[in-house]
Formats: sequence, C-alpha cells, structure tokens
Amino acid sequence: MATSVPVTLPNGLTYEQPTGLFINNEFIPSSDGELIASINPSTEEVIAEVHAASIEDIDKAVISSRKAFKEVWKNYSIDGISRLLHKLADLFERDREILTSIEAADSGKPQISNASGDIDECVLQFRYYAGWADKRGGTVAEATSDKLGYIVHEPHGVCGQIIPWNYPLAMASWKIGPAIAAGNVIIIKLAENTPLSMLYVGKLIVEAGFPPGVINIVAGHGKIAGNAIATHPGIDKVAFTGSTLTGKSVMAAAAQTLKNVTLECGGKSPMIVFDDADIDQAVKWGHWGIMYNMGQNCSSTSRILIQDTIYDKFVDALVKYTKETYSVGDVYDATKHHGPVISKVQFDKILGYVESGKEQGATLAFGGKAPYEKGYFIEPTIFSDVTDEMKIWKEEIFGPVVCLSKFSTEEEALYRANDTTYGLGSAIFSADISRCLRVSRELDAGTVWINSSNDTSHRIPFGGFKMSGIGSELGQYGLDNYTLKKAIHVNIGSKL
Ligand code: NAD
Repeated sequence: MATSVPVTLPNGLTYEQPTGLFINNEFIPSSDGELIASINPSTEEVIAEVHAASIEDIDKAVISSRKAFKEVWKNYSIDGISRLLHKLADLFERDREILTSIEAADSGKPQISNASGDIDECVLQFRYYAGWADKRGGTVAEATSDKLGYIVHEPHGVCGQIIPWNYPLAMASWKIGPAIAAGNVIIIKLAENTPLSMLYVGKLIVEAGFPPGVINIVAGHGKIAGNAIATHPGIDKVAFTGSTLTGKSVMAAAAQTLKNVTLECGGKSPMIVFDDADIDQAVKWGHWGIMYNMGQNCSSTSRILIQDTIYDKFVDALVKYTKETYSVGDVYDATKHHGPVISKVQFDKILGYVESGKEQGATLAFGGKAPYEKGYFIEPTIFSDVTDEMKIWKEEIFGPVVCLSKFSTEEEALYRANDTTYGLGSAIFSADISRCLRVSRELDAGTVWINSSNDTSHRIPFGGFKMSGIGSELGQYGLDNYTLKKAIHVNIGSKL
C-alpha cells in the first residue's frame, strides 16, 4: 500500500506528500488499511488520504519508542540533542514555502499572514528549547550539615502527545521542543483534519538526523489512536491540547495507568475595556484577539466587556475597523488575512451560534454570513448587546464571532469576566497601571494581557486555570512538565 502520493496544491506547488504512519523513521501503512481523507476547507476537495493508526499501530509505535529511549536516547549527548533541535529549525526555515503551502491548503490558514507566522513560531520553539537541553540539570538541597539531597531532573521516558487542528505545526512544536530537550522520546497523534504538514515534517526529522523512534508521528482517530495513547501502559506521560470535553476523557483514560497528564483545553476568554483606555489600540487588539486564525484560538478574547461611558464609541469603532480591514478569501493571496474555518462541522456549528445570538436578542453589528458558495468561509462577526444568559456569551464558539457587552463598575466587570467554567486567557485595557495590576490579580485565568490580547511568547508560560487545563507549556515551566524529580539522598557523615 502506498505511503506517499504526489500532490499539486492550489498555488501550483507540486510535491510528494507522505501519507503513512511515521514510526521508526519510516512511513508505514496502517495495519488495518484504514484511511482518513484530508479536505481543503477552501475548496471542499480531498487533498490526500492518510493512514489512520489502529490500536495495533500504537503498540508498534510504543515498541519503537521504548527501544529508542532505552538503547539510544537515554544516554544521548545533551549537546547532540541541542544540535538536532537547531537542525530541525534550520529545515523548517529552508522548507518554509512548502510547509506554509501545505498548511494553507490543509488548515485554511492564509499562507503569508498566518501560516508563515506559525513557521516562525516553530523555529523559535526549537531554538529556545535547544538552548535548554544542557540546562535541565538538578539542584542540591541540604537536609542537615552532614546530609544532602541531590535532586536530578529525569525524563519521563515515552511521552504521548495529542494535538488539535488549529495550529498543526505550532502546537506540535510547543510539545516537541520541551519534551525532546528534557530527554524524552515522543509519539505525536495528529488531528484528523490536519495531518499533512506534520507528516511532511517526518521527512525533516530523518534529514535532521534524529535516531529512529525518538519522534514517531501518527495520524488517526481520537477515539481509537488518541485513546490508545492515553491508556497505553508503555506510555509514561500524556500531553493533550484540544477541547475540555476530550481533555476530561483523556485524563480519565490516563488514570488507568496513573500517567502524568498535562492538558491545554478550551476557553471563553474575557477582555475588559475601561473608559480611560486608548480606544484605538483596544479596538485593534480586540479585533486581533478574536479574529486572528478565524477565531480558532483557544485563548481568543471572545467576550469583550466595555465600560458604559465608552460603549457606543467602542462598538462603532470596532465595526468600522472590521469593515475597513475585511479581507476574507483566497488563502494564497497575500492581501487576504481571513480564510475558511476548518471543516463543515465547525462551519455549521459556528453559523448555528450566529442564529442563536440573533434568536436570543443580541444585535448583529457586523458579518454573520458565509460569503462564498464554496468553502467554509465565515465573515468576521460582531454581536453587541450580548447578555450573560445567551449561549454565544457562555459557550466556546471557536470561530470568528465576538460578543460585546457593557458594564459600569470594576466589580461588575470582574465578576462577569470570571463567571465562566474556563480560565485560559483574559485582557484589560486601561491607562491606569494600578488598576491593571489590581484587576490582573483578581482574574481567574492562566494569562492576563495588559493592553494587548492573544500574544504569546515562547519564553512565557501559557496554561489554563479551572476547566481550561492542567500545567503550563512554553518557557522554563513548559520544560518542567517533561521531567521527573528524583531525590538522591547523600549521607556525608551521619552515623546510626
Ligand atoms: P478535540 O478535543 O476534538 O481534538 C483534539 C485532539 O484530541 C485531536 O487530535 C483528536 O483526534 C483527539 N481526540 C479526540 N477524542 C479523543 C479521545 N477520546 N481520546 C484521545 N484523543 C482524542 O479538539 P479540536 O476540535 O481538535 O480542537 C479545538 C479545541 O481545542 C477547542 O476547544 C480549543 O479551545 C482547544 N485548544 C486549546 C488550546 C490550548 O492551548 N489550551 C490550543 C488549541 C486548541
């Protein structure tokens, strides 16, 4: 059975697309012949069919990973690990054109304004964690004057990593960088909708010189391959990014073998705009905070609370800015910044929320329509006069739909911002830094942006409070997820 196919993308680029399971540095067919069709959300056409991992295939991946960890990786030179991550970053830079072309077709990201930014993100992650590979060493703590503890940071071993479709390459890089730098081997399960770019990366992993089995990459169904990773006794840790609902089932499955679990889940993040804010900046960041990547960001600031004295002004300015910057269309056209949403399922779900907003009495201030016959394009959509009981205010839409609502006091804004089961992101706009810092401390969220929204840095931890997740990714804290702390007690002179 073929494990690669020639593909010509809509921008004319022709290349050989790997379609097999990437195990032990080889592309192999799935054991039961199951395939998943990857669809271009702009054209609704199949780009390629890839092999879907069965339970038996996950067993194969685990055998390969365990062997690689035991025989090669556990004692691999840390300088060598660092060099491999830098090499992978070099290859991402070299293959930017092909990677962004695949990503634009497979995920619907505009090639220049979005997909290229994801490559920058991957390169930064790999280089940043390449720098950590030789700095993960332990600490020493004195128990008494004649006894000390030598605390070693050891890798977990085999890490299962399950990623979503909204940032197929970037989410993989968030997981590969720290796990590899900390000395683990990994099995990454790709999202059903977007397997193509990461399967192509399998070729780069071989070219970079990673030993077989250190990074295994599989496409597959969540309930089969994802669940097999979460339950497998040969996998020591599972790191998941996706919806809160799936996160719960991954955690429950991983409990069977008491695996270490980190979860990055959903959100319904608030942004609070006080009346002393720079409105022009608040409007631009507010737009970016929800519309970037067609609103398919876990930490999108999808609920904007605006102080009543500037409410009308803000709503008008946001609608005007959205109208002026409207650029929905061809993902290969550099002047377009807004592509389709990922799938028919998401398209229908998002338009269902738009209907619900209208039915429940919110004002549709802009957008709300599917502008083209073909493709899953949805206009940037603004609802004003949204109230706390409305579905569009409460539930994660995961699309380009923002809810605007007015508040009068700081206490009210805080209460309503925190009145959600999620706790991923949050933003405050105000010229009063004392207020910004005070409100930041009261917001129940893993991230607070003061006078910006939805900008992450590879150096700064990112993670959810409440039902948005467990643990942090990025920065030094991200590395911490991937090590076990072993205490070695050293008796210098204490006698019994
Ligand atoms: P999803 O939960 O449906 O799928 C995520 C991944 O989990 C996919 O690879 C899927 O195949 C797999 N999966 C599905 N069922 C599984 C199961 N029973 N066991 C194991 N794995 C399973 O999410 P999605 O629709 O792909 O992504 C959108 C969601 O992801 C949104 O809720 C969004 O907020 C969240 N997200 C969160 C972050 C974050 O960092 N917090 C980042 C991106 C996306």
